[in-house]
Amino acid sequence: MVEKLVAVKGMNDILPPASAGWEALEETVRALMARYAYRNIRTPIVEPTALFVRGLGEVTDIVEKEMYSFEDRLNGEALTLRPENTAGVVRAVAEHNLLYEGGKRLYYMGPMFRHERPQRGRYRQFHQIGAEALGFAGAEVDAEIILLAQALWQELGLKDVRLELNSLGEPAERKLHRAALIEYLEANRDQLDEEARRRLHTNPLRILDTKNPKMQALVESAPRLMDFLGEASLAHFSRVTAMLDANGLAYRINPRLVRGMDYYNLTVFEFITESLGAQGTICGGGRYDYLIEQVGGKAAPAVGWALGVERVLELISEQGLATAPAVPDVYAIVPEAAALPLVLKTLQALRARGISVQMHSAAGAAGEGMGSMKSQFKKADGSGARHALIFGEVELAQGCVAVKSLRGEKLDVAKAQTLQPLDAVASWADSLR
Ligand code: ATP
Ligand code: MG
Repeated sequence: MVEKLVAVKGMNDILPPASAGWEALEETVRALMARYAYRNIRTPIVEPTALFVRGLGEVTDIVEKEMYSFEDRLNGEALTLRPENTAGVVRAVAEHNLLYEGGKRLYYMGPMFRHERPQRGRYRQFHQIGAEALGFAGAEVDAEIILLAQALWQELGLKDVRLELNSLGEPAERKLHRAALIEYLEANRDQLDEEARRRLHTNPLRILDTKNPKMQALVESAPRLMDFLGEASLAHFSRVTAMLDANGLAYRINPRLVRGMDYYNLTVFEFITESLGAQGTICGGGRYDYLIEQVGGKAAPAVGWALGVERVLELISEQGLATAPAVPDVYAIVPEAAALPLVLKTLQALRARGISVQMHSAAGAAGEGMGSMKSQFKKADGSGARHALIFGEVELAQGCVAVKSLRGEKLDVAKAQTLQPLDAVASWADSLR
């Protein structure tokens, strides 16, 4: 026996009927983005490694240990499977000079890759949907993009999703805070775990984000970035909160909220739920006014977020909001293979009118028979279709096809059927809608 091949660990197949939930979420997002005038962008899954190293920051979890990087086997170019899509969007915007005529509102959906330990809500290939508004400095766009995410939870019927907000200020303010933070952490060096010690001089802000319970007290009384913010940063933040207030969106200011990537400044935020265990952040984002120039574009302000599709879908099913799997309107029963050409022609006409039709097919070649009526009815019932069309020899001889309602009836081949003339089947089908 040949060894059975399986998917790469942490990378999942998305199969029917679960894939219906993915499609439904994607459709909801598309419609919502249109209402906010965000347009779709699709960038390559592979990008130059330098884009992420420069964009996300060298001492971030992602760049330090989570990237799938490889060398192009022909020219040795350093490439990486995208771990996130903001850097790619920014590269594309700069490359194609998209901000030439003013700001742009964009959204994307697609797979991302991070070499993490697979667990609930954490995969090596996972999917994000993201929104990015580039070329706008105003707090109203921070508010708009946050309200957009909130509108999505509402649209999906999700409950118990809360918003946390913080401001990371501007680079100069962070520098002052950083110095104070390093001083404080150094004075308490004995309480730092190994990772914190390693990060002390490279990325001390991330230490505040530690999940180590032994360091909580230390982190709790560390110098707060908020206290180092200047007037302009504070004003931006209060404009954002005022607009959220005006829209009745509740939030909690979390002075310890930092994000995994270095590119953020001013507003940062996360949407969090308690219903998913440890992986409770379903969406995160913020402002990144310096990223575009960081990757070689013309400086422009920007703000965005990304949500984790797997986590949102899990929350949807957790809250009993899962999409019903798709079912056909009609199942076509074909007692004799000789009728197949006519069957196909009739079904094409139904489909052209928007009716969903599943044709009965047997596992073997047509000559080997279509299967018993009993087994065909069983399949018809299992398909979830509301009606069966029976292309029986006797009916076809009269220029008709039999129609049988499958819904709410016991499987019984002999149950009353109505006849429809073949040339009127399409208009009969219209009445199904
Ligand atoms: P976490 O703290 O959970 O590692 P993160 O800060 O690394 O999240 P972001 O880079 O901000 O996550 O990505 C935005 C969203 O994408 C997250 O809030 C989460 O919903 C989702 N996400 C991130 N990494 C994964 C993963 N490995 N598997 C599934 N979803 C993920
Ligand atoms: Mg992470």
